[in-house]
Amino acid sequence: MKIVLDAGHGLGTPGKRTPDGEPEWAFNNTVLLAAEAALAAFKDVRILRTDDPSGRRDVPLQERTDRANAWNADLFVSFHHNANTGAWGDWGGTETFTLDARRANPKSADLARILQPAIVRAMGLRDRGVKKRNLHVLRETHMPAVLIEGGFMDSRTDIRALRDPARLQAQGVAAASAIAAWFGLTKRQPDAAVPAGQPGKQFRLATGTFPDRRSADNAAAKLRQQFGWTVYVKEGN
Ligand SMILES: [Zn+2]
Repeated sequence: MKIVLDAGHGLGTPGKRTPDGEPEWAFNNTVLLAAEAALAAFKDVRILRTDDPSGRRDVPLQERTDRANAWNADLFVSFHHNANTGAWGDWGGTETFTLDARRANPKSADLARILQPAIVRAMGLRDRGVKKRNLHVLRETHMPAVLIEGGFMDSRTDIRALRDPARLQAQGVAAASAIAAWFGLTKRQPDAAVPAGQPGKQFRLATGTFPDRRSADNAAAKLRQQFGWTVYVKEGN
């Protein structure tokens, strides 16, 4: 099974960021990496990324779909996070897109119906359902294709899930499980589904101590801008 995983946009894509400046690609990438690691536990799976894994280049949509088609992929999955107005608001939720029924590969809708509830459970956000939309990556791919909007970057509720790497990783693992179920994939060996790393452990990176809030916020903004990391400022003694 040849699976294309695609993290939407790039680190520098204008507009595709939270009201605080965190780039959408970084959220999408965290989900993608977890999905990729989880899918590696299954037999006969090959993965192709159609975005730039460093995030530096926003690969044009045509290039993404051309590569997927040339590779003759069996599935195209694009990971995104939504925005409404770009200013903080009270909307929110998870949705999965396929092309409209007339033109979409019928298998896309089957997968979307499995994916959507799995992603909703993983993110713990409102279920906005499976939707149809005429999007380039859905229209121009010659294989079943879905696009997941994991949550809203400009939502006061959803942002807590988006800033929690464990939740984004859970989203990726949920996507992988749904894809595996849909393809009928079998594991390489029992219990091989645990992603690389030490189960149950997390490692955090602390970058510095600042005398005032403004300096800390400025440094955090720089790190988000340059590296696309999820960065937050914690007050303490
Ligand atoms: Zn997007």
